Formats: sequence, structure tokens, C-alpha cells
Amino acid sequence: MNIHVMTLFPEMFDSLKSSILGRAIKNNIISINAVNIRDYAFNKHNKVDDYTYGGGAGMLMQAEPVFQCHKAIIDCINTDLDQNIKIRTVYLTPQGTVLNQELAMELAKEEELVLLCGHYEGIDERVLEETVTDYISIGDYVLTGGELPAMVLIDTISRFVEGVLNNDESAMTESFSEGLLEYPQYSRPEIWHEKKVPEILMSGHHENVEKWRFEQSLMRTKERRPDLYEKFENTHKKDKKGRWIRNI
Ligand code: SAM
Repeated sequence: MNIHVMTLFPEMFDSLKSSILGRAIKNNIISINAVNIRDYAFNKHNKVDDYTYGGGAGMLMQAEPVFQCHKAIIDCINTDLDQNIKIRTVYLTPQGTVLNQELAMELAKEEELVLLCGHYEGIDERVLEETVTDYISIGDYVLTGGELPAMVLIDTISRFVEGVLNNDESAMTESFSEGLLEYPQYSRPEIWHEKKVPEILMSGHHENVEKWRFEQSLMRTKERRPDLYEKFENTHKKDKKGRWIRNI
């Protein structure tokens, strides 16, 4: 998967080159191409922001540099692929759909993805209308720029790209994958600060372990995320043996 990021601070994306993402980049499973919007400024001071019409505090990123930067990326992708494919362009904005696991899984299916990071008060609406296909927020709060949200999006999408995680790191058993939070986990030593690892986890009885984990997931979700628990209850029902099965 190739991720192209339009940003005023491309150097921030160097921090993605470590750990699991770093390994994926090294193995050519993922590439991150951070492009400086300032390179497409049309004045000698490389200025890309200006005052907002109608007044109000703060500056706005201008339409033309963003448009030219986007055009250069799309042209480059289409030349590489030698065909005109529809490429999704995501604007990271507090005004977007709030990111969740499902949306990340959906975006992970794209071969090419363009991300647009705003700064200052945001970006001239007209260029958003012409370039953006998806508006995504990482939560109901406002950050100074779209770079951290873009990095959050890249990290979570990457986990669903085949080959990024190895078997021990499967994304499919983690929180949210079944609409529930993950169960508590333990590692060595068996006793720590007088707290013992639950007996069942050392029983070697696979079926009982799975049952215990599922019950813990349910309890934890009910306690910490009642909204998710309610959704789970509405989309699942118990079968004759008391096991939860999906009914929607
Ligand atoms: N004036 C904008 C508003 O009220 O919606 C906020 C602009 S914010 C200071 C600057 C940039 O940070 C935005 O253009 C966007 O790219 C990014 N940003 C801020 N909060 C975000 C969030 N919760 N999710 C995604 N991007 C965000």
C-alpha cells in the first residue's frame, strides 16, 4: 500500500520509520511519501496561507498550493499505474466522520491513499470540494494540525494490511474486532505483587480459556464502554447452549 501525505511538515512522518511500521516500510509492504505543500507555493516567500474572507481570527491554507500538490501526486500515481483509477483523498479534520476500526479496515483495502493535513484555521473550502473524497476526524477535540491525526490513521490502517503484522501480532483478536474490548492478559511471573495469574489460563484447557476470555471481554466492555456493549447486545443473541451468535 502506498500512502501519500500532503503536509507542511513532512519531517514529522520520519517518526513512523521505527518499530512495526518501520519493518513494513523496509519490507516494501507499505510506503509513506510525505510531500511538502509549500513546494507548490506560487510566491517567492513560499507562503501558503492568507487571511480569511469575512474576518475572524487566524490564517487559512490557500487553495492553489493544495490543488497543485494534489494534482502532482495523482498524476504521479496514474503514470506509475499507467491507468486512471479513482484514488481516495482523505482530509483529516475535526469535522469528519470519527475514525474507528471498521473505517480503518475499509481504507486498508486501498492500494493508493492520499492524506491531506490542514494547519492554522484549516483549508480553503473550494479546494476541499475539488480534491477530497473522505473527511475523517480522530476525535471530538481540536489539534493544531492534521499531521498527528494522519499518523494515527496510517498506524491503524497499516495493522490491517496483509504482511504488516506477523501471526503473533494479529489485529483480528484485539479490542473492537468483534465489537468488544479485549480481555485482560498476563505474562510471567506467575505471581507479582502477590497477585496471581488466573488459574484457568494455566490449565491448558483451550476451550475453557476461550470461554473465560470471552466472558471477561463482555464484562470489561459492559463496565468501560456501555455504548459498545449495548450495540453488541442489539446485534447478537444467545443460542440454545448460551453462546452469543450474531443475528444482524
Ligand atoms: N478551524 C477548524 C475547525 O474548527 O474545524 C480547526 C482547524 S485545526 C486548528 C487545524 C488542522 O488540524 C485542521 O485543518 C485539521 O487538518 C487538523 N485537525 C485538528 N483537529 C483534528 C481532529 N480532531 N481530527 C483530525 N484532524 C484534526
